[in-house]
Amino acid sequence: MSFHLFQLSMSTAISEHDLWLRILEKVEPEVKKPHFLTWFQNTAILSFTEGKLVIGVPNMFARDWLANKLNGHLVEAIRLVNPNVREVEFEIDPNLALPDNAMATNVTKLFGSSKKPRKLPNKQEVKLVEGISSKCLNPRYRLKNFVVGSNNRLANAACGAVANAPGTLYNPLFVYGGVGLGKTHLLQATGNEVLAHDPDKIVVYMTSERFTNEIVEAINKRQVKEFKDRYRRVDCLIIDDVQFLANKDRTQEEFFHTFNELYDNNKQIIISSDRPPKELNQLEDRLVSRFEMGMIVDVQFPDYETRLAILHSKCREHQTLIDSEVLEFIAMNVHDSVRELEGVLLQAIAETNLQNTTPTVRSVAKIIKKLGRQGETINGFEEYAKGPAAVAQTPEDVLDIVSHYFKVASEDVMGPSRKRHIMLPRQLCMYLTRSELGMSFEHIGDAFGGKNHTTVLHACEKIEQKLRKDKQLLRDVNAIKKDMGL
Ligand code: ADP
Ligand code: MG
Repeated sequence: MSFHLFQLSMSTAISEHDLWLRILEKVEPEVKKPHFLTWFQNTAILSFTEGKLVIGVPNMFARDWLANKLNGHLVEAIRLVNPNVREVEFEIDPNLALPDNAMATNVTKLFGSSKKPRKLPNKQEVKLVEGISSKCLNPRYRLKNFVVGSNNRLANAACGAVANAPGTLYNPLFVYGGVGLGKTHLLQATGNEVLAHDPDKIVVYMTSERFTNEIVEAINKRQVKEFKDRYRRVDCLIIDDVQFLANKDRTQEEFFHTFNELYDNNKQIIISSDRPPKELNQLEDRLVSRFEMGMIVDVQFPDYETRLAILHSKCREHQTLIDSEVLEFIAMNVHDSVRELEGVLLQAIAETNLQNTTPTVRSVAKIIKKLGRQGETINGFEEYAKGPAAVAQTPEDVLDIVSHYFKVASEDVMGPSRKRHIMLPRQLCMYLTRSELGMSFEHIGDAFGGKNHTTVLHACEKIEQKLRKDKQLLRDVNAIKKDMGL
C-alpha cells in the first residue's frame, strides 16, 4: 500500500503511518497502559488533507472511547506533533481489524510487552503467622478499583485512612451494609493496601465462620492457649460478616479477648457486618460496645451514576468493550446489589463470547429478566425483554434495526453518502435483506434509495467476503439477526 506524503511544519516529509506513530508515542505516557493497548489497537490515519486528520478505528466502541474519553490527550498529542492539524475526525473501518491489514497499527506489538490481560500486582502474599490459616487476600480487590459514590464515600475514606496508618486513627473500623454492596471488597482492599505499604506486616483476613471453626478446633485439641498466642502476633485482623458469630458464645468470648489484646497493643481491627453494632442483638453486649469504640461506616446501594461508573470500571478490568447504551440500560434496571450488577455484566460478556455476538439492550434485558430479581424497571424494559416485537419482514424493518445498531441516521443509509461508516450499514442492509428476506437485487436496489442492482450485488458479495475474515463483523451480523427476531 502507498502512504501519502505531506509536509510537517519542520518541513520533513513523513508518511501518515509515521505521523500516527509519533502521535501515539506522545499519547502513550498519558494513558493507562491497558486502555492504550485496547483502544489504539488497529487504528490508523486514513487521510490528512487541508488540516483535517481522519483517524480510522476498527469499531464503534473504539471510536466512542477515543472521542469521549481520550479526546483531550489525543488532540494535545496531535498538536504537539503537527500544529497544522485543525480538525480531527474518527471514521469506523472494520477492515482495520483484519489480521493482514497493513495500514492498521499494531500497538500491542509496538508498545505492549504481551497481549495477556493486565495482572493486578500480587507481590504481597499474605504473611501468615505459623499456624493461622488465613484465607488469602484476593489481589483483585484494591481501593483503586473500588468506585466511590455518595453511597460509600465515607467507608472508602475510612479504609484509606486505616490503610495509611493502621492501628492509630480508626480502631476498630466497623463497616456495615446489605449483601453485595462492597464490604468484602473494601475489607480485602484495605488489607492489600496495608501490605503494599509494609509487606512485613501480618495481615489476617477471615470470615467469622472460619474464625469460629478455628476456635472449635483449638478447643477440641486443647490448644486454646496456642490459639491466643498466635493471634497476638497479628498486626491487622480482618473479620468479615461478624453477624455470624450470633449465639456462638464461646467464640464470642475468645474473640473478645483477642480483640482486647490486639486493641491494647494498637493493632488494627477491621470488622464487617450486615447491620450496625447496636442491632447485633445476638452478640454479647461487651463485644458490641467494643465495636462501637472506633469508627462505624456504612455502604449503601449506589445511585445510577455510580452504578454506571462501576460497570465501566468492570468492563475495563475484563478488557471488554460494551456499548455505553447497553451499560446504561443495565445500570438503570438493576436495583438489587452491586454483585447483581456485576453478575449481569459477566453473563453478558460470557454470552458474547459463547454465541459470538455483541451484547445489545435486548440481550441484556433478557439476562436481567432471567436472573429474575429486578424491581421496578424502566426505559421500555418489558418491551426489550420480550424480544423483538415481530420478525423483521420488510426492507424498512431491516433499515431500522441496522441504523439503530450502528447509530447512524436511516436517511443517510438510504442516501448517496460514500463515507465508510455509512457504507457498511448500507451494505449490511442489502446483504440481510437478500439473505434473510430473499428479495431480488432489483427490489433491494429500489428499496434502498433507488440503487442499481449491480450495486446491491456488489454489496452482498463484499459483505460475504468480509464475513469470512472479520470476526467483529460476524458478531455484529449475529447481534443484528437476533434483533431481527431470527
Ligand atoms: P459484600 O461483601 O458487601 O456482600 P462484595 O464486596 O462481595 O459485597 O461485593 C460484590 C461485588 O461487587 C464484588 O465483586 C465487588 O468487587 C463489587 N463491588 C461492590 N461495590 C463496588 C464498588 N464500589 N466498586 C467496584 N466494585 C464493587
Ligand atoms: Mg462479603
